Amino acid sequence: MTHKTIILGAGESGVGAALLAKHLGHTVFVSDLGSIADQYKQVLVDENIDFEEGQHSTEKILAEANLVIKSPGIPEKVALVQALKKQGIPVIDEIEFATKHTAAKIIAITGSNGKTTTTKLIYEMLKAADYEVGLAGNIGHSLAKQVATNDQEYYVLELSSFQLDCMQDFVPAVAVLVNITPDHLDRYEYKLENYIASKFRIVQNKQDEQVFIYNEEDKNIAYGFEHYYNKNQQNLLGVSMPDSEQPELHIPHTDFVIAKADLTLQGRHNHFNIQCAVLAAQAVGVSKEAIQQTLTSFQNEAHRLERVCIINQVEYVNDSKATNVDAVYYALEAMTKPVVWIVGGVDKGNDYSILFDLVKEKVRAIVCLGIDNSKIQAAFEPIHDIIIETRSVEEAIKVGSLYAEQDDVILLSPACASFDLFKNYEDRGNKFKGVLMHQIKMMTEGITVTINAKLEIHPVNSRTDDNQ
Ligand code: ADP
Repeated sequence: MTHKTIILGAGESGVGAALLAKHLGHTVFVSDLGSIADQYKQVLVDENIDFEEGQHSTEKILAEANLVIKSPGIPEKVALVQALKKQGIPVIDEIEFATKHTAAKIIAITGSNGKTTTTKLIYEMLKAADYEVGLAGNIGHSLAKQVATNDQEYYVLELSSFQLDCMQDFVPAVAVLVNITPDHLDRYEYKLENYIASKFRIVQNKQDEQVFIYNEEDKNIAYGFEHYYNKNQQNLLGVSMPDSEQPELHIPHTDFVIAKADLTLQGRHNHFNIQCAVLAAQAVGVSKEAIQQTLTSFQNEAHRLERVCIINQVEYVNDSKATNVDAVYYALEAMTKPVVWIVGGVDKGNDYSILFDLVKEKVRAIVCLGIDNSKIQAAFEPIHDIIIETRSVEEAIKVGSLYAEQDDVILLSPACASFDLFKNYEDRGNKFKGVLMHQIKMMTEGITVTINAKLEIHPVNSRTDDNQ
């Protein structure tokens, strides 16, 4: 039988899936309801793959497809996907399609916060041990494309809940679930339990031999264990938040110990991510030396507690990726100096009360950066006297530096999505760094400046969970 494979969505994952399907000898047709970005269109043209944009030719798709691969951005409930399923046509996602066509061992990471950091840590550990390894999922290049063009022995995959929603047969050798806090609930009928169920799809096919590393203190994960995972299996490795008072980090279930002073990543949440990453790397045989080398040299992706610079003894930290309250909690907790806190954007139904104690203890001034700051003001007015409204990064930095004293930190950790004033969180973080760089350039003699971050402005990525 000739495979007529139809791909819905022509972004990184859709075009990657098209390349793999073609490589496997399928007849391929790509359909995108929006317009296709030039870089992807060029690939389709160069590879002689048929496509359409600005529409889905529903009748043609229903009549011809015997396999449909959809972008994780397209929810299962849309009419076309429902019609395909009704007709018995399998609809899968790129990641599942790709893993069916590689013999590689998969390490998959999901969670609400900490996916990218943990994924990158594991990837770097495998690279340091000279493994043949690829990075994919929510970051890096399409998995399907890598399988088609340069298959590896291992893949480390960051998976959003959107990518897990459609998984049926996916079975990673190692699965990591870092935490579950309410997020993206608009996609889950505003029911937290649906979001938890989606996260637990990462282990729905787990047998004894696969390893599951999870946060054993997380109440939503405990709920998931009760309702979506009633199996009594081996290789379940629970991890808890490390004690911040201890000078050493102990990796549970192992005899691995490392001094916190030797780690490049700081903050209790990052030490938790490290514990998960070490267990995952050890599960696939990575040596202690390679792990140690990674932990002492690791540089995280930009916009995650990124120490940008020190100007006149005030430090600037870019945590633009903190798009929810939980991430801000750990950012404030990690700060060892008084903080001028820049917060705001599009509120995702935040409950700010978990931040009250930390804000009282550490925050000198609250600088709101957003179009509508009313919810933040209402939440913090009863507990803090200094709350200032701003509408641009320039203004926020200017006001922030008026309130900051020597040895303070000005922390951009917004707790909100960015799309009221910015394209996405990367755009917001890049603008923050851009304004600081401009200030540094304009400075006159006698002012001290230290630049910490690599200050190239990073290209804007497309994540599948893009309400950032
Ligand atoms: P994700 O890919 O899940 O969004 P990142 O590693 O990019 O996670 O981090 C996003 C934000 O969450 C950053 O502000 C970071 O400091 C914070 N963060 C990282 N790890 C954790 C964790 N384990 N718990 C809570 N917040 C975290």
